[in-house]
Order: sequence, then C-alpha cells, then structure tokens
Amino acid sequence: MTGQPEHVLIVGAGLGGLRTAEHLRSAGYQGRISLVGDEPHAPYDRPPLSKQVLTGDWEPDRIVLSTLDALDDLGVRAHLGLRAVGIAPGEIALSDGASLHADAIVIATGMEARTLPGQPPHVHTLRTLDDSLALRERLRRSRSLLIVGGGFIGAEVASAAVTLGIPDITVLEAMQVPAARALGTELGTLAARLLSESGPKLRTGVTITRFLDAGERVAVELADGTTVEADAGVVGIGGTPRLDWLDGTGLDVTRGLICSPSGRVQGLDGVWALGDVALWEDPHTGGPHRCEHWTNAGDQAVVVARDILDAAPPQTTVPYFWSDQFGLKIQLIGRAELGEGEILPLHGEGLKGGQIRGTVAAYFANDRLVAVGGFGAARLIARYRPLVADGADRATVLATAAKLGG
Ligand code: FAD
Ligand code: NAP
Repeated sequence: MTGQPEHVLIVGAGLGGLRTAEHLRSAGYQGRISLVGDEPHAPYDRPPLSKQVLTGDWEPDRIVLSTLDALDDLGVRAHLGLRAVGIAPGEIALSDGASLHADAIVIATGMEARTLPGQPPHVHTLRTLDDSLALRERLRRSRSLLIVGGGFIGAEVASAAVTLGIPDITVLEAMQVPAARALGTELGTLAARLLSESGPKLRTGVTITRFLDAGERVAVELADGTTVEADAGVVGIGGTPRLDWLDGTGLDVTRGLICSPSGRVQGLDGVWALGDVALWEDPHTGGPHRCEHWTNAGDQAVVVARDILDAAPPQTTVPYFWSDQFGLKIQLIGRAELGEGEILPLHGEGLKGGQIRGTVAAYFANDRLVAVGGFGAARLIARYRPLVADGADRATVLATAAKLGG
C-alpha cells in the first residue's frame, strides 16, 4: 500500500472497530470503510451489560454506540450478523461464503468468555448484550446465585444481584486475592472486603472439581469435598481473544495478536489490531502487552486510524479503567502491575481497615509513580493523572496528597 488506502475493512463491530471508523473520518479519510460484525446488533457499549442493563435500570436502546443510520451518515458500510472466517493478503472471507477485499484491514474482534470443563449450558457467562439479557431474566427468577470468579465480571454481577435483592450470593475465587492482577494485592484485598461487607459470601483459594447434576439449579463440588448449590450460576473467569478464524495464517494467536506500538500486526502486512485482542509492544517493558479495558480500545483506535493514514500519531495517553461495585466507583489510572513493593496510601482509611469510600493509593517503580487507584474517590483520583503521566517521584506525590488534604 502506498499513500492512503482506497478501502479500510474493519473486522469486529464493537467499541474498537467503531471508534477506528470514526477516527478515520475525523482525520479526513474519504475512502471506503466497511465494518464486519458477527452480532446482529449495531455497535453497542459493554460496560452497562454487567451494571445498568443487568439490574434492569437501562434497556438495550440506552447502550447503542451508533445506529445503522449514523453509520450510513459516516459513510461506513456495515455487514452485521456476518463472521470473518479467514484471512488472506488484502482479503477477508465471510461466513456467508462471500469475500471482501481491502488494502487495509483492522482486527478488533474482542474476547469470548472462558468456560469451565463440563459447564452446563444453563450456567451463564457474560460478554454480549444477549448474554446480559439472558442472565437478567434468570436473576429475576432466582433467590440464590453462585458466581465463579471474583474478578470484574464476578464482582459486578454480585453487585447487580445485591441491587436486585437476591439474598444468597456466593462468589468462588481461585486466587487468594481477587482482581489482584488489575489492582495489586492491597487494593484487591480492599475490593474483596467491599464485596464481603456488601452481603455476598466470598470464598478465595477455591478449586472447583466438577459440576454436579442439579437439574435446573446449579451445583459444584470443590476440591475440599464440599458442594455449593444455587438457583442460578455465572462463570466469570476471564476470556480468550477471538482469533480462531486466523488459524490458517500459522501465527500463534493464543495470547493475542502481536503488534507494533502503532498496532501493525507482526507477520501480516497491511493488517492492524487493537483492543482486547491486541498485544501491543509495551513502552515500559518492551514486551507484548494486552489491555482489556474500555478506554484502551478507544485510545488505540486513534493510533491505528492515524497510522493507516500516515498521519502524525496522537499524544500518548495514560491507561485508565473503572468498575462500579456496591455503590462505589473503583478507578485506576496507570498500570498497577508495573508497581514494585508496597503501595503508598494517599487518602482515606480503607487500607487501615476503616471506611473504604475515599481510599486512594499510589504504586511506584524505581521511585516513579506508575499508577494511582482508589475507591469512591473520583475527584481526588483525577488530580493524579498528570503525575502518573509524568512519572512523578514520591516526594511530589506526597506533597500533592498533603495539598489535597491527604
Ligand atoms: P468488543 O467490544 O468485544 O467488540 C468485538 C466485536 O467483534 C464483538 O461484537 C464481537 O462479536 C465481534 N467479533 C468477534 N469475532 C468476530 C468475527 N470473526 N467476525 C466478525 N465479528 C467478530 N472496561 C472498563 O474499562 N470498565 C468497565 O466497567 C467495563 N465493563 C465491562 C463489562 C462487561 C460485561 C464486559 C464484557 C466488558 C467490560 N469492559 C469494561 C471491557 C470493555 O468493554 C472492553 O475492553 C471493550 O469492549 C473492548 O473493545 P473491543 O473492540 O476490543 O472488543
Ligand atoms: P478477570 O477480571 O480476569 O477475572 C477472572 C477471575 O476469575 C480472576 O481472579 C481469576 O483468577 C479467577 N478464576 C480463573 N479461573 C478460575 C476458576 N477455575 N475458579 C475460580 N476462579 C477463577 O475476568 P472477568 O471478570 O471474567 O472479565 C472478563 C473480561 O471482561 C475482562 O477482559 C475484563 O477486563 C472485562 N470486564 C471489565 C470490567 C471493568 O473493567 N470494570 C467489568 C466487567 C468485565 P486468575 O487471575 O488466577 O486466573
């Protein structure tokens, strides 16, 4: 490809795919854009699926990211309800037997939820709008709920179930501390406290040996020989990148698609990848890094769109995610997993066993700030964004905390 492409084909009509199309247009691209998505729905937003949609506070029309008319206005040809099943240079094969040709291909196919061996079909996972509506319907009829996995899905579904008034909720988590990978041990422990103090029973360090036959209900046997049974079950144990359709390329895509810092896929010319499926070169470690958060998909879409058009890259952004649990917003700016050693409490009493709301803490590597995380402290957290961006030292962070009333 020399100069700007004539046709950009985006596979995956979720957040990252849609944002790529939008950024191509806002950067002035006037060529053809096609968007292929295997779901029948126009692009929609996933975070509310485990929050407002699940509790019934929002109906699906509230989460639409772009209507078909809006895609049309943007000059995007949408092929919905069709799956990409193969790739060749400049070509994508579709599930209806047709092929689409393009001089730039973008892959934003997201993840699929992992399941447990022997998981019965009536045990839910949560990734799509249809999953959320099915689980919502089931929760309406349930008085007890078994959740496997205490990560984001597990905690947010438990929170929604509390809102819905389900009296008996059990969360089974394999690790000693849930969400430790995303939040680190200390804030992961605080998330566990928030969950337990909100009503659900949390059991950590648990291994499930098998599902038992419980008819319409759900029952599991644990490694210690005990069983847990409930009216409904949800498994939230992470996901795998949806890349099986690239099998023919010979690339190892088990952990994601390895990409340059601007999203160009290694080993596939004229192909970019972003969002949950993409392992971009990590500016901190030099190795591949995959980020499964909402803000990342949008941020990477700008980079990819500009790279396709050979335009100057956008300014670097600071990673960010949030989770809404039991009435509190958990937020993290930066990358907790880069932190070394103990975290530094900045505000609030949560890390000393006191009130969780208002707790904020900092993570350092080589005395440089790499992340700030907090619970129910949005106004404070926002003030640390420039410090994370600059990699501020400990003294600067402490001075800021004192100024903010730490
Ligand atoms: P997706 O948005 O998953 O889009 C991928 C699309 O590609 C899907 O529609 C999929 O069906 C389609 N597709 C897959 N394979 C094919 C194929 N072969 N052919 C055609 N189409 C295909 N992040 C946060 O930071 N905060 C939150 O509170 C939060 N809440 C979340 C709640 C839930 C329930 C979920 C599931 C995720 C949540 N996330 C949250 C994560 C965030 O939504 C994702 O990081 C983001 O959606 C990733 O965007 P994406 O474009 O990579 O993938
Ligand atoms: P997750 O956040 O990775 O959490 C899964 C948890 O389940 C981990 O703690 C994991 O432990 C544990 N686990 C794994 N196998 C288990 C087993 N056999 N038994 C019990 N526990 C087990 O994944 P998720 O919650 O399923 O979320 C899926 C995706 O949706 C992720 O991409 C997530 O980022 C996204 N999401 C994000 C948000 C948000 O950002 N607010 C909200 C919802 C969903 P190990 O770490 O040891 O595997």
